[in-house]
Amino acid sequence: MPIYEYELCEGNCVVCGGKFTLNRPLSAKPLTHCPACKKPVRKIISAFNTPTKLKPLSTTDAKKAGFQVYKRLGKGEYERQ
Ligand SMILES: [Zn+2]
Repeated sequence: MPIYEYELCEGNCVVCGGKFTLNRPLSAKPLTHCPACKKPVRKIISAFNTPTKLKPLSTTDAKKAGFQVYKRLGKGEYERQ
């Protein structure tokens, strides 16, 4: 049976601690509320399945990658960083 991890959508729960795991058969209906406190919960998608977000490139990253970074001073004028 797969183990699912859940967390409360909001607030906290003294019974489940706001986050809990449950063994649930695949055929079971999606759990929408904490079985203990009946507050709404959401399933936590494991980090394994989460696509890694691409970090926006910064000037520093560009420099590290070997780029020469220029700052635009004005029309046709650039200052080498
Ligand atoms: Zn709870």
